[in-house]
Amino acid sequence: MKTEIAIVGGGVVGASIAYHLTQRGCRDVLILEREDSLGLGSTGKATGGVRAQFETDININLSLYSLDFFRDWDFDCEYEPRGYLFLAADSSHLEYLKRTGKRQRELGYREVEIVDREMIASMVRGLNCDDIVGGSFGRRDGFINPLAVLEGFMVEAAMNGARVKTGTFVRSIEVQNGRVTGLRTSERKLECDNVVVCSGAWAKTLAATAGIDLPVEPQRRQIVWARAAEPLSPDLPMVIDISNGFHFRPARDFHTAAAADDREVLFAFPDPDEPPGFSTDFDESFIEIVAEKAAHRAPFLNGASIVYEKCRAGLYENTPDHHAILGGCEVDGLYFANGFSGHGVMHSPATGQALSEIILDGSANFLDVSCLHIDRFARGELLHETAFI
Ligand SMILES: Cc1cc2nc3c(=O)[nH]c(=O)nc-3n(C[C@H](O)[C@H](O)[C@H](O)COP(=O)(O)OP(=O)(O)OC[C@H]3O[C@@H](n4cnc5c(N)ncnc54)[C@H](O)[C@@H]3O)c2cc1C
Repeated sequence: MKTEIAIVGGGVVGASIAYHLTQRGCRDVLILEREDSLGLGSTGKATGGVRAQFETDININLSLYSLDFFRDWDFDCEYEPRGYLFLAADSSHLEYLKRTGKRQRELGYREVEIVDREMIASMVRGLNCDDIVGGSFGRRDGFINPLAVLEGFMVEAAMNGARVKTGTFVRSIEVQNGRVTGLRTSERKLECDNVVVCSGAWAKTLAATAGIDLPVEPQRRQIVWARAAEPLSPDLPMVIDISNGFHFRPARDFHTAAAADDREVLFAFPDPDEPPGFSTDFDESFIEIVAEKAAHRAPFLNGASIVYEKCRAGLYENTPDHHAILGGCEVDGLYFANGFSGHGVMHSPATGQALSEIILDGSANFLDVSCLHIDRFARGELLHETAFI
């Protein structure tokens, strides 16, 4: 039997595409996942941040659509608009925040504001503000539960006919005369008309079986979980020092229903020395590297105890311009939704909407996402975003 649309990868992106396709009445949708359950890839490692404070129009627009979706969804994905607070420690960074904030407001994110040092000090107890010259705060940014988002998409997709096959590794994509004809899995050959590659950091090898060079590289991201000596500021937002990418947020364990502990905090920074690779081992020497940045910016963490069993590492899936790859390619019936760097959860609603429209209508109509087509790399039309962490 032939399947109409096979989705490879059961993370939040594959689930969103299945949800949006089935919402449009497409019933013959099959998700193939190599693990025994869904969400064990990067989705299960994400910190759950959502924001529309980006630099490029496309990232701002993908986020604004997705923030509205999270807010209005009848499924509770635990959207908490506590805000993202970006800190500038020199005037060039503050100018950057003013310029990007202006563009964000022009595109409809009216709640972004420039804040001064006094305001920042009142928002985050125990922050070192001595060298801060200002910042920006976007109050619709905040947090969601990535596993709840995945569950919400899957429950509704399954009710509308989508099927899931776990424990199924997709080895290759079969192509004849420039068109997808099927997939070869660990068990058998599966005939299908369309394939959507949503296999996150592992997508490059699979794309190569169809003759496509997908420029997506895995890179380990490590997160430190600590317990501060004092309770954190109430309603602590995500706080990001743009001089080095050091950031922290109140900790939340998405794998349990336990209430958050008001002293627990997650912190990290994008380590420029981390090479590409598939390792997801947490390396304890990272704690020392990031602790130095924490000691400067967040002295309230001095004396915090590390919760070793909750420190973790997962994979970012990076593209050369740190923007996603969305849409089809030169092989008919083959589509990609990959390369989200640290933004795949927050952009999952817009991605699902875009891919469903591209597959069913030929192009995305709710938003022009053509600048994210894979062709941009061959054409040398890379995008430029510095607000990635
Ligand atoms: C530490 C960390 C923090 C992050 N924080 C945030 C955040 O705050 N906000 C945010 O928006 N994003 C964040 N991200 C990024 C986000 O997690 C990813 O962009 C997102 O989860 C990507 O979803 P996905 O469904 O594409 O990939 P994944 O969740 O990785 O799913 C891909 C799936 O494909 C399966 N698969 C792979 N190859 C095959 C194959 N050949 N056959 C069958 N199955 C296959 C895998 O097993 C996996 O389940 C973070 C990531 C990390 C690592």
